Amino acid sequence: MGTYAGVDLGATHIRAIIGDESGTPISSYKTETPRGPNGIAVTEAVLDALREACAAADIEPTDVVAAGIGSFGPLDLAEGIVENPANLPDTIDRIPLTGPVENLLGTSRVYLHNDANAGAIGERFYADRNPDDMIYLTISSGVGAGVVVDGNVLSGWDGNAGEVGHLTIDPHGFMTCGCGHDGHWEAYCSGENIPRYATQLHREDPVETALPLDTEGFSAADVFEYAGEDDFASHVLDQVCHWNAIGVANMVHSYAPLVIYVGGAVAMNNPEQVLDPIRNRLDDMVMSNIPDIQLTNLGDDVGVRGALASALTEGTGDPSKGV
Ligand SMILES: [Zn+2]
Repeated sequence: MGTYAGVDLGATHIRAIIGDESGTPISSYKTETPRGPNGIAVTEAVLDALREACAAADIEPTDVVAAGIGSFGPLDLAEGIVENPANLPDTIDRIPLTGPVENLLGTSRVYLHNDANAGAIGERFYADRNPDDMIYLTISSGVGAGVVVDGNVLSGWDGNAGEVGHLTIDPHGFMTCGCGHDGHWEAYCSGENIPRYATQLHREDPVETALPLDTEGFSAADVFEYAGEDDFASHVLDQVCHWNAIGVANMVHSYAPLVIYVGGAVAMNNPEQVLDPIRNRLDDMVMSNIPDIQLTNLGDDVGVRGALASALTEGTGDPSKGV
């Protein structure tokens, strides 16, 4: 029986799993992502995670038939590396991935994706009907999407297709995005930015609120918790939902998905508060078919399961491909 590997390289954790030909996990391993001294240290940690997962499955790394990697970006797909990741210290400039993993496993069948594309591949593979037209949307510390159209996982020439967090949704540019530009979706709706947005709205209109706006620990979780009880918190959440709906409507018109799976901590921790308002607003915004909006089926494992699914399907998530 063939064994396959998936790796999820995240800013805080590295996960590796070994699975069988059906995509059922056999073993897994999780470790912290090193913060230095350099990119090679991160590469080594990825290789170690794979070795540990193989050991736990009682196989040699060279027994692995194929592997998928889902990683934070930005990626250079041609080189098989991450280059100058924004969410790790500056000393980490270049993280080689594809080449070293190929060497460890003794196979050239190693598929590298950004994490949102890995998520889309996972949702597609593990979904009941393996949709050819679908989106995986993550609302987490950032906002991003993996997009499958006509059965093709979109990557774009530089691998940056689906960077929907940087769609301009607010032409007035009330908020500035981490990328430096104004009015981008992520600047209003990511877990990091919801509290910034609330603070900024309150500066414009300093009404009374129970939200702990000026405390260090003020977070998106507070906004979700107080919404419904506190008028200002409800207003902030309503605005966040408004921008989410605009972003989703733009994706619907761009890609015509049958289903949009939503993951990421913000959505997973507050599924009704995030998903219902999107569902309710799309009718008024979309001229074409309205897709199903569903919470991810794979939870926190969506990246690593997607990477495993990629290994099984030649990077596509389509079960008719590969094994
Ligand atoms: Zn941006």
